[in-house]
Amino acid sequence: MALRELATFAVSATESKGRVYKEDQSDYRSEFQRDRDRIIHCSAFRRLEYKTQVFVNHEGDMFRTRLTHSIEVAQIGRTIARALNVNEDLTEAICLAHDLGHTPFGHAGQDALNNCMKNFGGFEHNLQSLRIVDVLEERYPNFPGLNLTYETREGILKHCSQKNALELGELGKRFIKNNKPSLEAQIANIADEIAYNNHDIDDGLRANLLNINLLSKSVLFEDNLKEVVKKWKTLNERQIRHEVVRRMINYIVSDLIENSRRLIQSYQPGNVDAVRESRQSLIKMGEFIEKKHNDLKRILRKELYEHEQVQLMTEQAKKTIQYLFDAYMKNPILLTDELQERIKENMKSKNERKKARMIADYIAGMTDRFALSEYKRISNQNK
Ligand code: MG
Repeated sequence: MALRELATFAVSATESKGRVYKEDQSDYRSEFQRDRDRIIHCSAFRRLEYKTQVFVNHEGDMFRTRLTHSIEVAQIGRTIARALNVNEDLTEAICLAHDLGHTPFGHAGQDALNNCMKNFGGFEHNLQSLRIVDVLEERYPNFPGLNLTYETREGILKHCSQKNALELGELGKRFIKNNKPSLEAQIANIADEIAYNNHDIDDGLRANLLNINLLSKSVLFEDNLKEVVKKWKTLNERQIRHEVVRRMINYIVSDLIENSRRLIQSYQPGNVDAVRESRQSLIKMGEFIEKKHNDLKRILRKELYEHEQVQLMTEQAKKTIQYLFDAYMKNPILLTDELQERIKENMKSKNERKKARMIADYIAGMTDRFALSEYKRISNQNK
């Protein structure tokens, strides 16, 4: 089969801005295939299996975890990338890496860790994903991190404060200039949203925190449900749920592809730099569907994320993270020997900020169950 030619506005692997540490090219794989493979082999990626998406990992074996979420994001992202003739390998790499920096216990964990770090520069999971691939992974003899290409790192850094952007050099520039990233990065961003909105419906129904009546407040859900029930009279509840979610994803993704095609057509970016310089996103749903999608998001927030059972988990998660952070800061002897050594070295200069960052890196890297077992271990010692 002939190689598919990418659009001129796609990111081309042969014209990558490259890696921080120079490396020889691979004989068989493009630069972005290599990035994707490095991400899949790194330990932060494996740990996503035991990190919460919405439901804490031990609540049930059937729910999404950060890992299965990331795989679903990549699948949606690749479909869109291929349909628009942009770089599928790059899109996949960004999608698979986008949540590497997530703390245990989902957003509750991120908020709690950010609060712990408020006097030490804060904590932001998106920036942490970049920190993992740039610094924290130790896999290669010649450089820290995974030494990914500029384009994959650009995509991983979805948002960034002006202050942090100033410290990031070239990569941070677009947040200062208010530019856009590549189309591949824009696709990964929106594929994330499409994936979680839809799989959270599935998980929420499975957990009985949502029901069909509540979801029918969403036009998007209601319309697709009506079609399914009309077409098949004898489906069971599970089949209905899956068919509705499948149709919703297809409906949104199809609209996104068509609308983005129109936008690209009218903006006519000649190359990826023109994409970056455009002020508007070129990967966008049509207004009508975007509104329906946002309505669904609002309903999920109110009915699922703010559900008292999910909130209970949120409170427990915040307590656990705060407790661990305070305990390690006060008493580093509770940490691994290796980390204690590193902290000792830094404490010669009495650098509390560095110590806090090392502890935040450690906590952020934990899986849900490891954080809970650490909480148990330390609180038992303190009894
Ligand atoms: Mg995500």
